[in-house]
Amino acid sequence: MSDTALPATGDLTGKVAFVAGASRGIGAAVAEGLAAAGASVAVAARSEQEGALPGTIHAVAQRITAAGGRALAVQCDVTSEESVDAAIAATVAEFGGIDILVANAGVMWLAPIEKTPLKRWQLCLDVNLTGVFLVTKAVIPHLRARGGGSLIAITTTGVDMVDRGANAYWISKAAVERMYLGLASDLRGDNIAVNCLSPTRVVLTEGWQAGSGGREIPPEMVEPPEAMADAAVLLAAQNADGITGTVQRSEHLIAAR
Ligand code: NAP
Repeated sequence: MSDTALPATGDLTGKVAFVAGASRGIGAAVAEGLAAAGASVAVAARSEQEGALPGTIHAVAQRITAAGGRALAVQCDVTSEESVDAAIAATVAEFGGIDILVANAGVMWLAPIEKTPLKRWQLCLDVNLTGVFLVTKAVIPHLRARGGGSLIAITTTGVDMVDRGANAYWISKAAVERMYLGLASDLRGDNIAVNCLSPTRVVLTEGWQAGSGGREIPPEMVEPPEAMADAAVLLAAQNADGITGTVQRSEHLIAAR
């Protein structure tokens, strides 16, 4: 699809979206954006009560329903196949199917390899890579049953920053991009769009603040979470005839519409 053929907005009326990692930050903004575009949204993450970081699946789901949308708060740990399968089953039971996945759950660890404890390495791979694998694997049959749909994995511009070294976070996201680019070929015949999406700049979420080690970001490098929500709505409206097999940056995608 050419850039000029991009829809101005995505109309997701009648669609069902599963957003993994939607209790706060970018995932919460994306869940609210998809719901505002007409989708019924499963708000999935672990937090049912306020913990060290603010935000719960229930609070996000309540914001969506208060705004006139449809939402289901569903407890989900993306590192557990059992938990993922139960969350997907609950979503299908409530909304009748799934058309859209946003695999957003993520943890950040930016320290160099020599300063990375094994447990941090494993956490990054478990949440950021295996988590995407598990939710993607679980939703594919449901998208196929609907005759198509859209898979979106949230990655990072850090994948390309090889001049800034290596860390578990960027490596885990690089693997996700390889998974999704290949999956786009596998699922083209099923009319399923498969894309990666990352912020163009930094979104100052709770998780970013906690994981960045107090790094100062100049204001011109800060992006509002709504940019990711708008870009996710655009990608969510795609199928295999549209944008697929790409790595998108939020503000670039929005500017191209
Ligand atoms: P955040 O504020 O820390 O939010 C992370 C979300 O992931 C939370 O909803 C958290 O929910 C969920 N999560 C973490 N572990 C999980 C698990 N095991 N199972 C289910 N959910 C889990 O982070 P963010 O900044 O919004 O980042 C969201 C995504 O964007 C991440 O994939 C991140 O890598 C990516 N990203 C962010 C930026 C940025 O500038 N902020 C830049 C590039 C890419 P619970 O704790 O409730 O489970």
